[in-house]
Amino acid sequence: MEILKNYIDGVWIPSTSKETIDIVNPATQEVLAKVPFGKGTQKDVDLAVASASKAYLEWSKVPVLKRVQVLYRLKTLMEENTEVLAEIITKESGKTYGESVGEIQRAIENIEVACGTPMLMAGDVIEDIATGVDEMMIRQPLGVAACITPFNFPSMIVFWFLPYAIATGNAFVVKPSEKVPMTMMKIFEFLDQLDIPKGLVSLVHGGKDSVDAILEHPSIKAVSFVGSTPVARYIYSKGTANGKRVQAQGGAKNPVVILPDADIEMSTKIIADSVYGCAGQRCLAASTIITVDDQKRQIKDALYETVKSRTTGYGLDREINMGPVITAASKARITGLIQKGIDEGAKVLLDGRNASIAGYEKGNFLNPTILENVALDKELIRTEIFGPVMSLISMKNIDDALKFVNSGNYGNMACLFTGSGANARRFRNEADAGNIGINIGVAAPMAQFPFSGWKDSFFGDLHGQGKHAIEFFTQTKVIIERWPNIWSRKF
Ligand code: NAD
Repeated sequence: MEILKNYIDGVWIPSTSKETIDIVNPATQEVLAKVPFGKGTQKDVDLAVASASKAYLEWSKVPVLKRVQVLYRLKTLMEENTEVLAEIITKESGKTYGESVGEIQRAIENIEVACGTPMLMAGDVIEDIATGVDEMMIRQPLGVAACITPFNFPSMIVFWFLPYAIATGNAFVVKPSEKVPMTMMKIFEFLDQLDIPKGLVSLVHGGKDSVDAILEHPSIKAVSFVGSTPVARYIYSKGTANGKRVQAQGGAKNPVVILPDADIEMSTKIIADSVYGCAGQRCLAASTIITVDDQKRQIKDALYETVKSRTTGYGLDREINMGPVITAASKARITGLIQKGIDEGAKVLLDGRNASIAGYEKGNFLNPTILENVALDKELIRTEIFGPVMSLISMKNIDDALKFVNSGNYGNMACLFTGSGANARRFRNEADAGNIGINIGVAAPMAQFPFSGWKDSFFGDLHGQGKHAIEFFTQTKVIIERWPNIWSRKF
């Protein structure tokens, strides 16, 4: 069985760790390969950073217009290899082939935006800020930066950071999720073909041990993290305590409000896609659906009809709408949460717990579940489920709905479905979340915009993507120069 190698100093090398864990196809339970894990991976981080530090000295002196040329090549390689990449994503993460292609497209869009770095990292100049004195602000790279990513988007999330980090002149270390590291192996085959210094980009496997080595390494200047809230909080506190710049995106529990004036057919279809897309394993998945006033019955019936026609199966079978969840443990956790909700008084409209897919009986499959009247003061309404479960609740009016939206610990996304501009305007101003959707079910910012997140969904200041990423991976330097006017001798 293949043991994945690290990519360090421009070559593929075995990990110094002898410990491994299995990478498992969630639909078939086939072991796809083994990935290095455990204490020994700390040494791998040291090797990667030593090489990255050298590469940085060379790369940071390359003009930015030349640096972005490698991104054009990377974009082409990603486009030419989308099919093979999508197949790997589906095999290791379980999402449908279409969802895999979609996330690669989002990754490519980040490369495209980062190609604008020659303008995006431009500084400011004020001439004659005092007589004979000019002042300017320039942006310089930080040195070596690293990212630590989750299982649910094996390709896309690294691209919220990597293209911007290298375009601005940094070296970059990637530590992918140990559950889905094979997608990055393929992407590093593309990075290997770029005209960049050895060690500029490195791939290091592992779990907590390699993460801790990243957080403790004095030469790593910045850390980008995406994953669950408890780990995000840990990364932020440990990374900043060690003097690093840190951006840490956490978990979510996203509420969606449907007002009586919404287009019910359109809204319910979009909401079902949001709740059940990627089997509910998206940080922007709608989770709690709030109906307001007298439309409750109609919305409930429309949601039920839309959801029950969705099909579950192996992601490589092109007709299906939803794949399995990532692990058997995750499936057990989700079914446990559904049961807890029922025990706490929720009514089951659709029970997805007994999914069995012909030919894939061992897979971690769940069909869509809809729970109604979920108790507002209980665990299910506050916990991130990260599975294909919709909780349906109802409120008297938009004021109560907004109060509920703002009462949660997370602040990743809040959405409103309405036909009223006034209600939309109020919601977008008053909802406490970093990403707002109006008649949109997955308010995922395009690459030009920061991937926002508030409250327990984000720790830090600058987010991934777009101008935020450019700022995150650069430090400002302000220079004041006096050049006496030698012709007039006035100074
Ligand atoms: P996770 O937190 O378990 O793992 C994320 C990364 O952290 C992995 O690389 C893992 O190896 C590492 N890690 C895990 N435990 C660690 C520990 N104790 N110490 C140090 N490192 C550790 O997350 P996951 O299960 O892979 O991903 C799902 C979570 O990610 C969900 O909560 C989801 O909402 C969140 N997510 C958030 C966003 C966002 O933009 N806010 C995007 C995608 C996913």
